[in-house]
Formats: sequence, C-alpha cells, structure tokens
Amino acid sequence: MRYHSTRNDSVFVDSAQAVLEGLAPDGGLYMPEAIPAFDWQKCLAGTPMEMSAMILSALLPEIPDMEDLVRKAYTGKFQTEALTPTVPVGDFTVLELFRGPTSAFKDVALCMLPQLLTAARAVKGMDREVMILTATSGDTGKAALEGFRDVPGVRITVFYPHGGVSQVQRAQMVTQEGSNVAVCAVEGNFDDAQTGVKNIFAACQGKDLPFALSSANSINIGRLAPQIMYYFKAYRDLLDAGKITLGDQVNFSVPTGNFGDILAGYLAKLLGLPVGKLICASNSNNVLTEFLDTGRYNRIRLLHKTKSPSMDILVSSNLERLLYLLSGDCGLVAELMEKLKTDGRYHVPEYLMARIRNHFWGGACGDYKGLQTIGRVWRERGYLMDTHTASGWAVAEDYVNQTGDKRPMVVLSTASPYKFPGAVLSAVTAPTDALPADLLKEPAGEGFDHMDALHALTGVPVPPNLANLRQKPERHTNVIPKDEMLEYVLKL
Ligand SMILES: *Cc1c(COP(=O)(O)O)cnc(C)c1O
Repeated sequence: MRYHSTRNDSVFVDSAQAVLEGLAPDGGLYMPEAIPAFDWQKCLAGTPMEMSAMILSALLPEIPDMEDLVRKAYTGKFQTEALTPTVPVGDFTVLELFRGPTSAFKDVALCMLPQLLTAARAVKGMDREVMILTATSGDTGKAALEGFRDVPGVRITVFYPHGGVSQVQRAQMVTQEGSNVAVCAVEGNFDDAQTGVKNIFAACQGKDLPFALSSANSINIGRLAPQIMYYFKAYRDLLDAGKITLGDQVNFSVPTGNFGDILAGYLAKLLGLPVGKLICASNSNNVLTEFLDTGRYNRIRLLHKTKSPSMDILVSSNLERLLYLLSGDCGLVAELMEKLKTDGRYHVPEYLMARIRNHFWGGACGDYKGLQTIGRVWRERGYLMDTHTASGWAVAEDYVNQTGDKRPMVVLSTASPYKFPGAVLSAVTAPTDALPADLLKEPAGEGFDHMDALHALTGVPVPPNLANLRQKPERHTNVIPKDEMLEYVLKL
C-alpha cells in the first residue's frame, strides 16, 4: 500500500518503510493513499488479537505474518485475555486500556510496534541498527522502553521533561533494565523535548550514521495503527452486553494529548465501525478545545503543569493527520504546519472546521473538577479512576448535558489510578465541599506512600509492575539542557 506525507502526495513509500522511518523526510506524517476496503463486521467477530491482526494487515499489508506478530506482542503481557476490558459504570462504559505491562494505555501500541519494526527491517533487508528516539510526557517513555528492551537490531533513547513527570512515572523510567536502552531528563517541558527530537531527525536527515532513526511516538503509523483495535473491542463488548445492536452508533470520550488515541478512533470509523461523536477531552491545556470551538490553533501560551501530565501538551502532532484526512489537501496542511512553526498558530477554513465538528466535540476539565469527579465517581459508583480518565469522564458528562445525545458513551481509561496516586488519594479522601486549594494539595509523603494509602483505603489492587518498583535501583540519572539532545544521541 502506498503511503505519503501529510504535506506532499507525490512521493510514496510502502507501509514497511513508513514504519521504519516514523516521520516523513519533509516533517509530515505518513498516511495511506486511501483507506482500504475493510470487513468491519468480520473484524468484530474476532478475539482482540484477531481484531488487531485484521486491522494491522489491512493498513500495513507489506508486513507479513501479522497474526504471528500480534501473538508475540501480547501473549502473557496483559492482565487479561480481553487485553482491554470494559466496565459498566453508571450511564457510561469505561474502556480500561491500562491492563498492560506498564499500566498505561500506550502499552497496547508499544507492545506491538517493536514487532512491526523488526518485521519491517526484515522486509527491507536493513542491516543498520534502528535507533528509536522518543519524547515522553510520562507514559510513552516507560511503555516504549519496556516494549523495545533487548529487541535485537534496535536501540531506544527516551527524553522526558525534568520535573515534568510524576514520581512514579520517573521511577518507572530511571529503573529501566535492558542492554539497548537510554533514558535522559531534559531541562524544559514536553514540547521542548518533542521539538528537540524533531530537530534531531531534521539534523540527521541524509547523514551517514551508524543507525537509522525512527520514532515510537504516535507520529509513527506503526504506533497509531495498533490503537484502532480497542474501539472495535469496546463496540463488541457493548454488543455482547445487549446495550446496542449491530450498526448502532457509539460515542467515545478520549483523554487527549498528542491526538493519537482519538485519531485511532477516527480511523476505526473510516474502517467502517459505527462511531458517533469522538469527544476530545483536554485538561487546562485546552488548545484543542479552543481549536474545535473557533477553528484557531494557537500554541503561544503558557503550558500548565497539571495533575494529568500526559496531556500537558500544546502541539498535538496527530491533528495534522486529521486535517489531511478531512481536506485531502496536502498543500493546505503544509501551509498550516509552516504557520504553526513560524507564527505559532494557524486558522483552519470554515468548510474544514464544519467537517471536523461533524465527527469531533471538544471540552476541557481543570484539575479541581477532575479531582472532584474522581471523588464523586468513587463514592457514588465504587469505581476508581486516574486523573486523565477523570477528564474524559467529566467532559463526557458535559457533552451529554449540553447536547442531550443519548447514544451509548464509552470513556477511554488511559492509566491506572496507581500511576498518579497522590492526586487520586486527595480526591477520594477530601470532604465533598473541599476548597480547590485543599483538594489540589498533594498529601504528605511520597508517591509510594500514596500508593499504599490508596490501596488500604479502596482495596483496589496495585498492579504488580508498580508495586515492585520501589525495590529497583536507579540506572539512568542524566539531566541535560534542551539544546544538547543531538550531542547526547550521537555520543551513545
Ligand atoms: C499519552 C496519554 C494520553 C494522551 O494520548 P494521545 O494519544 O497523546 O492523545 C492520555 N492519557 C494518558 C494516561 C496518556 O499516557
């Protein structure tokens, strides 16, 4: 299948090459020339692994033996064979994406990507090593490290914002084992780290290096495509529960940062799945909410550090893919992305916004409302959710209240509550009328103390990978200025 950049549809690569490169040479993101015909009803009839293999074979046809790769990726790594179970909670259905090896939804994709990449290397007869470069706002880093550790022919370097991730997230990364891994803190925020990674790609373009660079961020189509499966899986669960009949539309509320997860939902819709509205939930970094309201994207603003750090993002890279998909106009996308780079903002024509709003609805949920939501859902429904999921939940409620849309709602749950135990602990212990300042204060003690306290209070089991962390030695303690990232990689 032919893939091209979102910014130019006259240069093509096949799907194996797109996975190997990650980012297109012109800085755009790879997209298939056309969405393939797909038997979505047959897909719904499969097990989660069969669904995944079907979707991935359709989108990445040059990568052979997909069923085998999927089996290797997932077998024994998730807490349940359902991979991504659903739980009915009140009027909504929660899709738990955090039952994998690092308790983050990114595990679904990052268990699969190394398999895709290794297979793509074989298809292309590549003998140079692949160096995976990843900027992380917290969760991608660990999930990528765990996915790629000791994979032959591949090395991985993860950059995270110094002070910008939770104690537990940091502990997960700096204790990482494996002979092919590097982890480094960058003085700056997530956008600095992500821009730094993009600059390294640009600087290395065309250079004769001992390794080929690639990316584990959702700019890589091999990272995005494995996420489509769980929309099918959730739909199937609703069918099995008798909550819908085949063909009924279902809405999905997605805690959003880089726009990868929610774009996978739109790709599921393009493959035929009856998806209604995709609800884009942001935290107080509400760039996307504003964009969906006004058609103006503006990254020139302060980045707020919030209780949902994996969504603390001002440049949502995968929005570029949506702009391409709904306009079909690479020239327009190239122009908008150039404006984003030089002016920090762009304005999307109204015809295109109308198309976007046909499928998407945006809302934001600040920390105070998020923590109140966690406390309320715990008290009223006995369901414990993390801070990211809370924004998905709260924005889903806002959506239903404002629109009266009665279609079934699936809220994507993107992290275990034990990854952000301080915030979740305050949320479930505070009195219902707690003032913002009191609710937002982290409880005394450190992350691991909060984990224990949260467990003692709620009885919700701590995932083993998090429970074992505190005994592990720190192995990666470098902190570098943001303009030294290239040097760091070249010295590895
Ligand atoms: C990465 C992440 C998100 C955002 O997903 P995108 O694909 O970047 O939009 C939301 N929640 C958690 C916990 C995450 O780790």
